Amino acid sequence: MTNNCPFCKIIEEDTLKQIQKDKGDWIVIDSKPKKSNFHKLIISKDHTQDLRIPTGLIEEVVRENNLENYKLMCNFGSFAEIPHLHWHILA
Ligand SMILES: [Zn+2]
Repeated sequence: MTNNCPFCKIIEEDTLKQIQKDKGDWIVIDSKPKKSNFHKLIISKDHTQDLRIPTGLIEEVVRENNLENYKLMCNFGSFAEIPHLHWHILA
């Protein structure tokens, strides 16, 4: 495991069965709801901050959940709570 990264821990162990989708280089989990009703995270399997965009997987999640209006978010540097590439889908 790379340091104490919570995303690496989910990818390697998934003891809480959080992984909803496992596709290629990415996994999808539910985020704990904060402000939004719908909040999924698409997380790179690599512990990296190199920008990649999982376009097909984002489209799949959007389609499966019938999201007409949604927000995509990706944070870097001091904006990233966890320095491991992940995308937020919020609705
Ligand atoms: Zn990580």
